Amino acid sequence: MKAARLLVLAFGLGIAATAARADLAEDIARDYAYLEDLYRHFHTHPELSLKEAQSAARIAAELESLGFAVTRGIGGHGVVAVMERGGGPTVMLRGDMDALPVEEQTGLPYASRVVAEDHLGNTVPVMHACGHDVHMTALVGVARRLAAMKDRWRGTLLLIAQPAEELGMGAKAMLEDGLFERFPRPDYALALHTAADLPAGHIGYAPGWAYANVDSVDILVKGRGGHGSRPESTKDPVVLAAYIVTALQTLVSREVPPGAPAVVTVGSIHGGTKHNIIPDEVRLQLTVRSFTDEVRAQLLEGIERIAVGQARSAGLPEELWPKVTLSDEFTPSGYNDPGLTERIVKVFESRFGAARVHRREPVMGGEDFGRYGREEPRIPSLLFWMGSVAAERVEAAARGGEPLPSLHSSRFAPLPEPTLKTGVEAMTAAALELLAKP
Ligand SMILES: [Zn+2]
Ligand SMILES: [Zn+2]
Repeated sequence: MKAARLLVLAFGLGIAATAARADLAEDIARDYAYLEDLYRHFHTHPELSLKEAQSAARIAAELESLGFAVTRGIGGHGVVAVMERGGGPTVMLRGDMDALPVEEQTGLPYASRVVAEDHLGNTVPVMHACGHDVHMTALVGVARRLAAMKDRWRGTLLLIAQPAEELGMGAKAMLEDGLFERFPRPDYALALHTAADLPAGHIGYAPGWAYANVDSVDILVKGRGGHGSRPESTKDPVVLAAYIVTALQTLVSREVPPGAPAVVTVGSIHGGTKHNIIPDEVRLQLTVRSFTDEVRAQLLEGIERIAVGQARSAGLPEELWPKVTLSDEFTPSGYNDPGLTERIVKVFESRFGAARVHRREPVMGGEDFGRYGREEPRIPSLLFWMGSVAAERVEAAARGGEPLPSLHSSRFAPLPEPTLKTGVEAMTAAALELLAKP
């Protein structure tokens, strides 16, 4: 009898949960026209890093109209919106706002034709080629749902619209502007990012290390130039640079343990003007990727050591040793808290079905969302990936057909409908899981 009653109760709860699931999806479907308009607006009006004034103003106005306490101008154009619903955890949801200096080639009717001045004074085309227009729209979409359902959760919701992600500067700027002192400090932090290789409507995740430390290093290789016919009277920086580029490959292959992901790429090499002139210098530009602080330190130390060591081996005097400069445009790696990831992935699987939720390999790309979780004491964080490409295109590419444009490509065009709906539903459900009433 008791067992039967429990069974009925459990069945009833199951029906209630299913009904609540269906409710959320239906509410989002009813809101969808509004969200797609907003998405097209953001897509057509992209703004470069550090220039996100209009996007920020629009998001601030949207969130204010929903009853959030909104503060503008945090760490540049950053927006912070707070809604407090009594005792409970504080959950931070982050969307980033900046676009890229890319000329859009998608052919979409709402494609960007924007040309603007970047923070260095260059005039460049501008496009949302990293899907941050999806992120902004999803943030507003989630805010609309959670504000409408505010009697169904408790705790504090902290929404942030972050500038300058592409420069690795925005999270740092918001934190330095007192994000976690002037506003409630989060117990959890969540973000989503579009994925250019997952079907729209699908979700990807990687527990643990998910994206990489990104460092930029410049090496000025010095020499003593002269006539190309008289190498004996010079110290040739071209040959030295070639040795340095080759020797740098041993960092990953011979020094970092095989199980620790690391990348050292020399993406740019420039020196000289003419066939028969040995130049005075060659410039190298490197991107350096790692997950842990230890591997990062090992790579950065190794680059300097190898560059100087090769110069010594070429017989250069100390005043002509290479100058190695580490850029302060550093993006820290991101760690998805395994416990939090497991908890949220369960929510996704029960809502969307396990076939639409994929465990994926970590990437060596960067995302400065990782910086929030690194603040001591560490904040359990999760960034998950939102599929954003038509399923048939993903399948065709997998069969060897037309390759999919990657993020930052001039042809990256997220499919708005399933992407936005799934993004809003996933993030709303994740927040509700953490803010559920006891
Ligand atoms: Zn990007
Ligand atoms: Zn991005």
